[in-house]
Amino acid sequence: KDESTVSITVVGASGDLAKKKIFPALFALYYEDCLPKHFTVFGYARSKMTDAELRNMVSKTLTCRIDKRENCGEKMDQFLKRCFYDSGQYDSEENFTQLDKKLKEHEGGRLSNRLFYLSIPPNIFIDAVRCASMSASSANGWTRVIVEKPFGRDSESSAALTKALKQYLEEDQIFRIDHYLGKELVENLSVLRFSNLIFEPLWSRQYIRNVQLIFSEDFGTEGRGGSKFYDQGPIRLEDVVIGQYKSHIKGGITYPAYTDDKTVPKDSLTPTFAAAALFIDNARWDGVPFLMKAGKALHSKRAEIRVQFRHVPGNLYNRNFGTDLDRATNELVIRVQPDEAIYLKINNKVPGLGMRLDRSNLNLHYAARYSKEIPDAYERLLLDAIEGERRLFIRSDELDAAWSLFTPVLKELEEKKIIPEYYPYGSRGPVGAHYLAARYNVKWGDLGAEQ
Ligand code: NAP
Repeated sequence: KDESTVSITVVGASGDLAKKKIFPALFALYYEDCLPKHFTVFGYARSKMTDAELRNMVSKTLTCRIDKRENCGEKMDQFLKRCFYDSGQYDSEENFTQLDKKLKEHEGGRLSNRLFYLSIPPNIFIDAVRCASMSASSANGWTRVIVEKPFGRDSESSAALTKALKQYLEEDQIFRIDHYLGKELVENLSVLRFSNLIFEPLWSRQYIRNVQLIFSEDFGTEGRGGSKFYDQGPIRLEDVVIGQYKSHIKGGITYPAYTDDKTVPKDSLTPTFAAAALFIDNARWDGVPFLMKAGKALHSKRAEIRVQFRHVPGNLYNRNFGTDLDRATNELVIRVQPDEAIYLKINNKVPGLGMRLDRSNLNLHYAARYSKEIPDAYERLLLDAIEGERRLFIRSDELDAAWSLFTPVLKELEEKKIIPEYYPYGSRGPVGAHYLAARYNVKWGDLGAEQ
């Protein structure tokens, strides 16, 4: 095994993602001794750069974890010495043959494994896959390709992309990356559920009233409004609410509307917010609403999962909560970001004479409990791709299933030119999202005074 080598080619190395995430993640893996003994990193893009210029560009983005500052500079130098650059077009087999030659020089006749990370815009994915597979595949080891989002924009375009990829690659060579799947708390979900007796028996419609998936950002598109990332909505149009942020003045500052973004047409109906209710048609989850919402320019920045439990039947203490029985239900919150935490809301007696209850948190706050800095999602996913672990990557059939849920409603929104509900920049989103939840007797858990 020691005599095999891994060549990691970052295609689109001059870009934003490569600088911000991919090179730093590779360095972190190197620092942690997770990369194989023989490895080489190649940057590939059209921009002209020397090896030294690439190293200089990469060096500016590398950092060491707070608890790993020892020998940091030395480690960076060692890592940078193993980074090289090759300039070429994405659709030129000849240029990729040239890359192949360079890779071979570094592989030195060892068994060669090759990973290509396509960090390029989607319209050139297929050209790059064709050239890499025809002209720069490994002759004697594995060849894998990491493909970045977006994976199409509806069922048809996604199927076309998959079909084109499969002209050149087998399914087990394709690693579709969604970095949220590499987040620490997402990876922990199955541990939480399957290794804690107190959760597993409760994990069904019998005890769980609803599940909420919340993703909010507190900033707008900021010049990157051209893409329709936010057109997400499932199944029935009546179970979907879409919104678009409008300008808002707060504290003397004017926050822009989505359509103030120079990259966005003035009459754009593209949603910057979507909320939806979904149901899982099986015995375990029959009738339990899964509410999702995602939006930009909202009042907070968070990604979390909220599991709200049912009321305690015949609760002796109902009267202590007055009419607001919702306040008396348990809720498990998994905060994926920022400031990772898992907390469980329980009813508790307020200390003192008399019997007053409140809802308090049993709190597992990661920063307080674990001194170790949490690795970036890209580190975990790159390591998995190198090791051939596909669990956190999206398979073709999963992608097809996801698109078949969303495509009909996306088409309907587009065809009917549905006007999004406007919400002020920095607000809690469109009021329609509250009505949607209320229709299923649910309150969004992130909107209460105490969260
Ligand atoms: P980017 O900076 O726009 O593009 C990466 C590189 O591709 C550029 O440096 C450029 O290199 C080349 N390129 C750009 N436009 C091109 C065009 N029209 N034709 C040919 N080459 C072109 O993209 P990125 O932000 O790094 O993202 C890369 C991929 O990751 C995209 O698919 C994006 O959707 C996805 N993604 C990005 C992020 C993020 O945070 N940035 C997050 C999630 C997913 P040369 O001119 O040197 O060839």
